Amino acid sequence: MKTNQNSLDIFCAEKINKLEEGASFRKLKTTHRVAEAQSHQAGKSLISFSCNDYLGLSHDPTLLEKANEAARLYGTGAAASRLITGNYPLLEELEEKLAKLKNTQACLVFGSGFLANIGLIPALAGSDDLILVDELAHACLNSGARLSGAKVIRFKHNDCADLENHLTAQRKSSSKCLILTDTVFSMDGDLAPLPALRDIANRYESWLVTDDAHGIGVIGAGRGGGFAFDPPVVADVQMGTLSKALGSYGGYVCGSQKLIDLLVNRARSFVYSTGLPPMSTAAALAALEIIEQDPTLVDKPLAYAKHFCDRVGIPTPQSPIVPVIFGDNDTVMAVSEKLANEGFLVSAIRPPTVPDNTARLRIAFNASHKTADIDRLADLICAAKKEYGIV
Ligand SMILES: *Cc1c(COP(=O)(O)O)cnc(C)c1O
Repeated sequence: MKTNQNSLDIFCAEKINKLEEGASFRKLKTTHRVAEAQSHQAGKSLISFSCNDYLGLSHDPTLLEKANEAARLYGTGAAASRLITGNYPLLEELEEKLAKLKNTQACLVFGSGFLANIGLIPALAGSDDLILVDELAHACLNSGARLSGAKVIRFKHNDCADLENHLTAQRKSSSKCLILTDTVFSMDGDLAPLPALRDIANRYESWLVTDDAHGIGVIGAGRGGGFAFDPPVVADVQMGTLSKALGSYGGYVCGSQKLIDLLVNRARSFVYSTGLPPMSTAAALAALEIIEQDPTLVDKPLAYAKHFCDRVGIPTPQSPIVPVIFGDNDTVMAVSEKLANEGFLVSAIRPPTVPDNTARLRIAFNASHKTADIDRLADLICAAKKEYGIV
């Protein structure tokens, strides 16, 4: 049969060659994650410092049991959009629990965090509106912003003065305005200055939208980034994921009942996508119960990150994510490979995931880590920093 495979492959090859020239071509690696932060990659058994399963819950016996039970009761898939027949009972139970955790009127669960952001933002903003997004915010906040058709400006990372300058210049000529930020930045581990952002949003009549993907379960006693502050900071729209510390899959938005009622009707990634599988919902519910009942577990990832930073002599971290920046793509790949030879899985993160010349190891701490392993990793990182002259 005649196809156009040839021109398509030429197009792909040209793109791939460019990526290879910049040492930024990526390949999938089969990874078999087993319990206790152990992973097998290419026949090697490694201790993973690259998973977002911060509490080790993705292999927790209770989550596994609840997921199995849910599949037996409700099936392996939701079978339709939630507005048709996909709204099986567990979903509302999960939404109630999340709303309670976040202290909001209501919550809506989406198929993933990415789907939540690309549905939510275009439901709230359009071509007459302004969206200000932190330059280091997650890719899916940017995707959602672009899909909305609003004017999008990226403000300097955690820089309230820069944000205010843009607002002074642009706010009057736009109808509505959204300020988008991560609560915990996924590649740097720092927190957004939420009290200041709340104040700015109030003064410029803008809606504050926070993405708490890396906060829930590990920051603010497990309630998320907004609760790391005293008093807690309440964003107008609080989005997050079930796919990280909760060890499951799916996304959510917490906020007022009116907001949720609108999203049920207008968020296209909600309306036109199949409901989350029952297993994922049940696992997330079980995870939330553990987070409520086990504050010692919740505190571990950040405590381990602090211990590591002390030993390496880098500033105290604000979250379980610690970046060690090497700058150059080839260097970071070499260090990551060296660590793999020592039994550690610490993935290299390269542009465009992070800004140019900031290729890094992103070290994510997990409640299942052992102090002896953390110490050995810290010593190896110190040696690598010295070898490459990184201060
Ligand atoms: C991982 C992540 C997402 C996407 O969530 P998924 O549930 O994996 O789709 C969104 N925002 C941030 C900040 C993230 O780190």
